[in-house]
Amino acid sequence: MKSKRQKTRKILLLAAMLLFPVVLNYLSPYLVIQGGFEGVLAGSGVVFGGLFVSSLVFGRAYCGWVCAPGGLQEACANIVSKPTGRRQNMVKYIVWVPWLAAIVLGFVSAGGIKEVDMLFLTDGGISVTSIYNYVIYFFVVLLIVVLSLTLGKRSFCHSLCWMAPFLVLGSLLTEKLHTPRLRLRADASQCTHCGVCSKSCPMSLPVADMVKQQSLFHTECILCGSCADICPRHTIQLTFSRPAGRLQEVPANHQPEAFSGRAIKQ
Ligand code: SF4
Ligand code: SF4
Repeated sequence: MKSKRQKTRKILLLAAMLLFPVVLNYLSPYLVIQGGFEGVLAGSGVVFGGLFVSSLVFGRAYCGWVCAPGGLQEACANIVSKPTGRRQNMVKYIVWVPWLAAIVLGFVSAGGIKEVDMLFLTDGGISVTSIYNYVIYFFVVLLIVVLSLTLGKRSFCHSLCWMAPFLVLGSLLTEKLHTPRLRLRADASQCTHCGVCSKSCPMSLPVADMVKQQSLFHTECILCGSCADICPRHTIQLTFSRPAGRLQEVPANHQPEAFSGRAIKQ
């Protein structure tokens, strides 16, 4: 049975998914480039900046709790919930760097930011209002659904999301600066390495190994709290705290140890 926290999270994600046609332009990777070449900081550019700032306090919780594509992917995971391969993670950075360069080039060629327009090319504040917008929306949804059903849980987050790197950068910064933010903490002495947390992770992370190694930070962790809520030993907590573990990620394809039936000795 799902915890109250996970029920709340699922409702928020469902609401975000239903609002996707409204908010599409505010998450658009294209409009921010088009606006850049006209010297206009479009709504999506402001949102991307806001995501970076939010990650300094909430890490990647945006992805886990209120992201529209995230909600769509978790709905797809009810149909196909195979784990996602680790190699996908790097793809988004390979796409992100030239995309960011195109935005910078646009503003440089336009002579800087001359205007901030949250409603740039968004009539009445609603993104999908014309056939043209419907077609774009349809293809975005199709891409997310196909990736989720073929490559695994939240594979769009892992491989293509242009928003994730902003949140990862903020999260990494807080790890380096040791500033308090929303984080996972765990008492490894309580863990029986049953692996239930790893199975429940929507980002296919090797949570049991992360607990064992006391390395709870992972750039792909979206702080959804599923692992904390499902652990029968209440080993993991989602808390506001400073970093405690090492800034070293446990590989996602790390082979977990077999269930030992007793607490792991430290
Ligand atoms: S669910 Fe809890 S006890 Fe089981 S492996 Fe994860 S942290 Fe350990
Ligand atoms: S490690 Fe835990 S909090 Fe992070 S994404 Fe996986 S289940 Fe969610």
